[in-house]
Amino acid sequence: MRILQFAGLGLFLIAFFTFIGSLFMGDYQMTEAVAKEVISDENHQALLLPELAPMIDKTYGNQFAFASDFQSTFERVNQAFKEQQQWDKVIYTDYTFSIVKASSIGYVADHGGRLFFLIFILGPIGALLYILPQLQLLGPAGIKNHHVFHDNEKNRGIIGIAIGTFLILFYIFLYWFEEYITNWTLIVDPLSMAMNGGAASQWFLYGFMYTIAIIVMGIRMLIKYRHNNYQMIRTGSVMFFQTAFAFTIPQVLAAMSLPAPDMKNMWPLDYSFFFDYRLNEMVEAGTIGFFMLGWGIALFAIGVPLFTYLYGKRWYCSWVCGCGGLAETLGDPFRQQSSKKLSAWKIERYLIHGVLVFAVLMTSAVLYTFFTEESQLFNIGSVYVSSFDVRGWYGFAIGAAFAGVVGTGFYPLMGNRVWCRFGCPLAAYLGLVQRFKSRFRITTNGGQCISCGNCSTYCEMGIDVRWYAQRGQNIVRSSCVGCGICSAVCPRGVLKLENGENNDASRMEAPAIILGNEGVTLNV
Ligand code: SF4
Ligand code: SF4
Repeated sequence: MRILQFAGLGLFLIAFFTFIGSLFMGDYQMTEAVAKEVISDENHQALLLPELAPMIDKTYGNQFAFASDFQSTFERVNQAFKEQQQWDKVIYTDYTFSIVKASSIGYVADHGGRLFFLIFILGPIGALLYILPQLQLLGPAGIKNHHVFHDNEKNRGIIGIAIGTFLILFYIFLYWFEEYITNWTLIVDPLSMAMNGGAASQWFLYGFMYTIAIIVMGIRMLIKYRHNNYQMIRTGSVMFFQTAFAFTIPQVLAAMSLPAPDMKNMWPLDYSFFFDYRLNEMVEAGTIGFFMLGWGIALFAIGVPLFTYLYGKRWYCSWVCGCGGLAETLGDPFRQQSSKKLSAWKIERYLIHGVLVFAVLMTSAVLYTFFTEESQLFNIGSVYVSSFDVRGWYGFAIGAAFAGVVGTGFYPLMGNRVWCRFGCPLAAYLGLVQRFKSRFRITTNGGQCISCGNCSTYCEMGIDVRWYAQRGQNIVRSSCVGCGICSAVCPRGVLKLENGENNDASRMEAPAIILGNEGVTLNV
């Protein structure tokens, strides 16, 4: 079994280093035909092509030099127009990603299939070979978190920090420097062509990798929690929603030239839902577009209050959501890193509700512009602030930096639910309903609690579950995503996730059983 694991690790590492190395393979050469194909607008061609002449047919050894030459030429042309106040000539289309990708020549462009096999077939096989023997090695079913705080990867050791650093860099390139990861998109081009008929963008690559991560690490979850039906079904659910709703269905819709949203993702998590181009796209698509618009609005306006009333926020955060899905699978090894300090709870409350307010204000500004065609909102001194500025700030700070770079990159440092706990505006909305109007609660049989603290240790949302268990109090916290791990790791069966009576008083009521100096008292 150990040999199988070593082989799996070896395959995974080969795939990983091929993945990184592929960024540095091949050369870059822009022909005139490529330039004309990418810069398809004839006006832009007339303005840019003469300036790009020195780059035509020149061979670059890496994408950094190529992209830098292209961008400086592009900026020079635009700067001249701006200085001459020829606003109608300024080019706003960013061609860098497409031109770097189309100009790639050599190994990656010629042997994408081989690299795909090495990276995306052997990599997951290697990971599974590493994971599957745990079925045998760990013996009978039951959660075994042995030595988790002595583990270099799981307790902020050098491996954990290296994983976090890789994830952070990955997100930085994905969001802001996509022109440098074009080779990765070349490798998945055939898959993208087969699924939606077009070349792969960085978002196709991301969706594909995201889905693989949830499937492979989901299988790990199924093995680890195989004695627990709730965990098995919940993990199957996030694997299904990611594979079908987030990845496959949008590709099919795109192949049919229809709007291609992830239809389980809702506002305000899907913060661009009300952006003008999305609304126009849905309206122009006719009946199916109106259905998507109505579905998206119904999800947050009716689905959230209704299902959260019935089942708590777990119906979305732990069963459906893609961010939750990644956190529960890829992030599971790091769940014990979430801070249980009171100060963290305080920061969490300010931050997450602050983001919700920001999302509501940003969306209001965007809709104001959509309906009035007036984009200017207010002035700061002589600077005009438009709704486009506000949505740009939100996209940068929350949509990219918080949700991506911090939200996932910090898994090994701050636990697997950094985004869900501190930043997700939808989690804040769901949490408000859960706290004040829901049947969901975790009941605690305080008399059985031995204060081992397993529940608090493995609560990914930083809830000090033991504190409630010791007192026999129901847990009614807005942040609880109902993952059920506290209950799964409790050796005494103290904790139970329940949807009970809609009686606010009984939900929040103090103890059914109290252990006091005079023995056990039944408080009925
Ligand atoms: S309290 Fe339990 S169910 Fe809720 S988030 Fe924490 S571990 Fe999950
Ligand atoms: S895991 Fe169970 S026994 Fe241990 S502290 Fe939590 S509720 Fe008590």
